[in-house]
Amino acid sequence: MSSYFDFCILGAGLAGISLAYELSKEDVSVCLVDPAGVAAGASGTPLGLVNPATGRFASKSWEAELCYAKILANLELIQDTSPVQFYKQTGVLRPAMDKKIASRMHENFRLQDWPEGWIEWKDEYKLTSFHPGINCVDGGVWLPIGLTVDITTYLKSFAHYLSMQSIHQVYDKSYSLEKRTDFWELKFTSINSIKAKHVVFATGASTIQSEFWRGLPIHPVKGQLAVLEPESPLNFGHAISARGYIASLHSTQFAVGSTYEHSFETEHTDQQGLDYLLDRFRKVLPDLHDNSKVVHQWAGIRASTPNRMPILGKHPSHQTMSVFAGLGSKGTLYSAYLAECMKDLLLKNIDVAKEVSINRLDFIT
Ligand SMILES: Cc1cc2nc3c(=O)[nH]c(=O)nc-3n(C[C@H](O)[C@H](O)[C@H](O)COP(=O)(O)OP(=O)(O)OC[C@H]3O[C@@H](n4cnc5c(N)ncnc54)[C@H](O)[C@@H]3O)c2cc1C
Repeated sequence: MSSYFDFCILGAGLAGISLAYELSKEDVSVCLVDPAGVAAGASGTPLGLVNPATGRFASKSWEAELCYAKILANLELIQDTSPVQFYKQTGVLRPAMDKKIASRMHENFRLQDWPEGWIEWKDEYKLTSFHPGINCVDGGVWLPIGLTVDITTYLKSFAHYLSMQSIHQVYDKSYSLEKRTDFWELKFTSINSIKAKHVVFATGASTIQSEFWRGLPIHPVKGQLAVLEPESPLNFGHAISARGYIASLHSTQFAVGSTYEHSFETEHTDQQGLDYLLDRFRKVLPDLHDNSKVVHQWAGIRASTPNRMPILGKHPSHQTMSVFAGLGSKGTLYSAYLAECMKDLLLKNIDVAKEVSINRLDFIT
């Protein structure tokens, strides 16, 4: 005996879970499969930021207003179902660390079309009064709308919510994928097979390990993050983004991230990664660095693309197979809006924006 679904989503990270939610609102049957469980990939990062001021110079990110509104709505929806607080509007402070960065940040602050209330320029005096002890050169930007998210708890709560919405979920079981004439079949060793009209790969950096997506320009980038405990409770609640980020949801612990390792020998944490994180942290907040101890270290592999934009779309040789991957370091911000775009592609055949479309790539199989 087997089960038959309209859609089978492979991967229960930010991409897969957000897409399952979008499809759950429609009259289609959906199955979510992840042999490693919920948030087992890059989405397992202990704390991440939703920060629409991106890159070294705090440029406004792609479709920032739409992306921010969608992720906030999803966070609010799922927070209401969970007893554990997994996100907070902490704001994000972005001190400039040298004169060139300060000047480019100021230019982006002045010239980009930021929504009212999203961003404020603070000169050096104002910035160091706002956060005494922080290092900066010539000032920086403050984004009161920035969010800090415990992504794993968000996704685990989301998966629980989806089970209440009749989304079938299969975790911790390996399978093989085979093409039949009119459907795809996932064959498991320990449970009955699953058949689906359409399969979506939301498999992050692992996507290119599939025979169907070999050659897609996705590059694995390792990221490490450290969790620290301060000697006395933190006296600030905002997140900081400079030479990486410093984020907390509670005054007794904070996370320092992240490395961007384009070549690596192990997927695990290592001393070199920790040294890098602590060195950069010390340059931003020297006092806190000297008065905190590392209690945990974490590593994950994100999927990056040549222009750092995600990849969404149908497989050129199999119209009943799609990909939703390459979320890079902005996965949380992008996940909810892109899931809606992906749903429109799958159900209404509405093309996704060219910036995120697979069609922008030279991917032929
Ligand atoms: C250290 C670090 C810090 C980060 N900080 C931030 C941050 O501050 N803000 C932010 O927005 N983003 C951040 N990110 C990035 C963000 O976490 C990613 O963009 C996002 O998690 C990617 O989600 P995804 O669902 O595409 O991939 P993943 O989370 O990697 O999920 C892919 C899933 O697919 C599963 N899978 C793999 N192969 C198969 C298969 N064959 N079949 C079924 N399932 C499969 C995996 O088990 C995994 O669960 C950070 C990432 C790292 C590593």
